Order: sequence, then structure tokens, then C-alpha cells
Amino acid sequence: MHIIDSHFHSEMVIERGLDIKASFSMLSGGIDAGCSLDDIQRRSELLKGHDHIHLAAAMGPWCASDMSMDDVDPAQQDLERKIDQHHARFLGEIGLDYYWNYGTPELQKALFESQMRLADRLGLRILVHCRDAACDVSDLIRSVRPAKAGVIHCFDGSEELLQTALDCGFWISFAGNLTYKSNDNLRQMLKKVPLDKLLLETDAPYLTPVPLRGKPNCPAYVVHTYECAASVLEISVEQLSEQVFENFTCFV
Ligand SMILES: [Zn+2]
Repeated sequence: MHIIDSHFHSEMVIERGLDIKASFSMLSGGIDAGCSLDDIQRRSELLKGHDHIHLAAAMGPWCASDMSMDDVDPAQQDLERKIDQHHARFLGEIGLDYYWNYGTPELQKALFESQMRLADRLGLRILVHCRDAACDVSDLIRSVRPAKAGVIHCFDGSEELLQTALDCGFWISFAGNLTYKSNDNLRQMLKKVPLDKLLLETDAPYLTPVPLRGKPNCPAYVVHTYECAASVLEISVEQLSEQVFENFTCFV
């Protein structure tokens, strides 16, 4: 069976004491998502020899915490150099997070938009993070309309964001919170995603799926999210894994 994990954070998984390389060896493909400018070099070294795991680099909305508007352009130039130097295949994760007060919404939006435009210029797909900000994320994606469609990672179930994403050709990726008892809405939304636009992920070390919830997460645990998604969609895990593998192959 082909198992993919479309979004995880290798460094943080290692920090939690889990064996990331064991996870790599059981995956058919994956994306190691970037959080800041500092982690790119180390992650790029870690991924050497694991050609099926792709490097993504970017500044997430949390980077707005210690930035001002004047820092956005120089930081973006630094990111561009690092993407080039380490041959990053994706630009992400980027987006908006209004759950935590990172900087100001204006600063988060400036950082998100400038990186979306950079991705467009470099011909890279983006990995989008959205928390409590579906309306502004939708507006920005619609106004930039990336030439290459990206993915909404850890989709939170927002109807508006789903519509925007599908209109713009984006893929939708579900994480381990799909398995949480209280997330019936998310499972209902899964049924609305066209099968060829569906991806699955861990967002490890976060959002550990049931039955391992409470422990730190690692990419290998994505199989539990596959099982949950397959039962929601009323197809076999084998069928789902072939479909998601095909989707991921198109995406990369
Ligand atoms: Zn992430």
C-alpha cells in the first residue's frame, strides 16, 4: 500500500524523541513543511538520501511575532536565497492564524501575500495554514489567484475556504483531528471534497490521531487517519491509499 503524509515537521518530531527515519521508510511520499528561515538548512541535510520526502520552506504566520512591516521584504529575499540554495520544492507553510495573536493581522497578511507572490514567481506550489482566519485566507487566495494551485493543509472544515480552494484548483489535506470524536462537521466536509483533490497528513508532531491521541505524532501514524477517512467515504483503505497516492503524484 502507498502511504503518503503530505505535511509534517521533521525537526519537531525528532525533538519529541521519535524516529523520523523509520517513518520515512514506511512512506511512499511526504512533505517536510517549513516554519521559519532558521530551520531550512538542517532539514535539507536531514532529507538527503530520502528523495521521496520533499522539502518545503517558508515563514509561517508565527514569524509575524518578531517582525515589523519593514522586515517583510528583506525576509522574503532571504527566503528566496534559501529556497534556491536548498532546492526547496514547495513554499510553505504560509497563511494566517488569528487564534494566536502573532504580530497584527495586517502584518500576517503582508507576510502571506508576499510569499504567495514569491511562490508564483518561482513557479512553486504553496502549503496554506489557516486557523480562525478562513475569510481573510479566502480573500487573499482569490485576489492573488496563484498560477500553480497549492494545498490547504490541516483543513478546518470551513465551507467558504473549501469553495475558494476548489475554485482555484487547490488540494485539501486532512490531518489527525479528522479522527476526533467531536469533529463530526469535519467528517461531513470530507465527503464534499472531490476524491481527486484529497490529501492526508499528520502535521506531526501535532494532532495525533485516535487511538494514539495524547502522544506526540509522527508521519507513520497517518495510517490511522487513512482508516478513519476510508470509513467516512465508505471505500477500502487500499482504494483510498491508491487515490491519495495518485493525487500526491499530481501535486508534486
Ligand atoms: Zn504544519
